[in-house]
Amino acid sequence: MSRQTVDIVVLGLGAMGSATLFQLASRGGDVLGIDQFRPPHEFGSSHGETRITRLAVAEGTALAPLVSRSHEIWKELEGRTGEILFGQVGFLAVSSEPSKAGAADYVERTLAVARRSGTRHELLEPAEARRRYPWLNVTDADRIYFEPEGGYLNPERCVATQLHIAAAAGARLALDTRVEAIVAHADHVEITTRAGTILANRVVVSAGAWAGRLLGPHVSALLRPTREILHWFDLEPSAPAAWREAPVYIWSYGHGAEEGFYGFPAFDGAVKMAHGEKTRGIDPDDYDRSSEEAESRDFHARSIAGRLKGLRADRSRRKTCLYTVSPDNGFVIDQRPESERVLVVSPCSGHGFKHSAAIGEAVSQQLLDGVSRLDLSSFGLARFGRAPVPDAVAQGA
Ligand SMILES: Cc1cc2nc3c(=O)[nH]c(=O)nc-3n(C[C@H](O)[C@H](O)[C@H](O)COP(=O)(O)OP(=O)(O)OC[C@H]3O[C@@H](n4cnc5c(N)ncnc54)[C@H](O)[C@@H]3O)c2cc1C
Repeated sequence: MSRQTVDIVVLGLGAMGSATLFQLASRGGDVLGIDQFRPPHEFGSSHGETRITRLAVAEGTALAPLVSRSHEIWKELEGRTGEILFGQVGFLAVSSEPSKAGAADYVERTLAVARRSGTRHELLEPAEARRRYPWLNVTDADRIYFEPEGGYLNPERCVATQLHIAAAAGARLALDTRVEAIVAHADHVEITTRAGTILANRVVVSAGAWAGRLLGPHVSALLRPTREILHWFDLEPSAPAAWREAPVYIWSYGHGAEEGFYGFPAFDGAVKMAHGEKTRGIDPDDYDRSSEEAESRDFHARSIAGRLKGLRADRSRRKTCLYTVSPDNGFVIDQRPESERVLVVSPCSGHGFKHSAAIGEAVSQQLLDGVSRLDLSSFGLARFGRAPVPDAVAQGA
């Protein structure tokens, strides 16, 4: 059994851990990254070719500086490595929600954040949207917002690139290494794996859907893993050619969490889309990763038919993926209540990828300098009190 010592362990190397490890190593930190698999992999939350990014995040104005800084980091990484990480194709928000007293619709909430954060945008007339995007079947009653600086990220490439740079900057990596336990002592943290023990000054737990079980009942009561499906629908032969130059889009057509969907441009003759279900709770070590064609047909019939043109309900493929859902759909970034040496960093609830680069940078500043340039205080555990609050309605992506 081996025994190693290190200043900081980053436990879990998906979107969040790879960003944190890259930032810590680039600033000369003595770091070890650990993952039970070999990231990028298909068993957690950071796979499936694309993730939406948009500056006017309707999930809250507090997130706007994070995504804006993340865009800068992805572009810096592209310049440094030549990798293509960010397709800045624009972002469309469409709302056909029935009006509800006292509730702003998805476009209004997006617009409010755009105005507060100074994000460039346009409100499109439905006829203009149909002209620009012949695959988009909006009605004259729908509201449409367009943001030119939104787009998509390639999650696998983002993870691989950040890990590659981290290793080149001196980070140690322990892959195929599952952490069994984290025990915080007064002057160090003991991390147990099957291969041995690691003694660290601090540990960042960026273990996604597995974080709860590593962090004890107070945190696991707040982080609920769910099974989600990504669907790829083939284009019909007569589908509008404009699908290939499409922006990314989120369309909300009701007030329930499932009454909406999001998607991407066509790549290789197929269009990927999904909706955040957040309903099927699972055990991340033991759940059915298969998916049925019937699930894609149902999704197409319920959400896509009549709204988007040129997608075949009878020709699809799927992948399953994990969300980690918090009670208010917000992130959880804080010290573990029992020890300031253990930090939980979870950009969870289905919309965290776009913010992960800036969160990684801010966490590295907190650990190495004692304070971060961007404020992470609104993601603390104290907001939940002792008892978890009920689920809030929110779209993913
Ligand atoms: C279907 C889907 C669509 C999404 N769409 C969007 C989107 O469009 N835009 C957006 O911004 N966000 C989106 N998200 C959310 C975003 O992808 C996640 O917030 C993000 O990927 C979470 O990253 P993570 O690092 O926390 O988790 P993960 O990527 O799952 O990483 C956790 C890592 O920890 C490792 N680990 C866990 N336990 C242990 C252990 N005991 N020992 C060692 N290693 C361990 C795992 O192997 C894994 O590699 C989506 C998520 C899903 C699932």
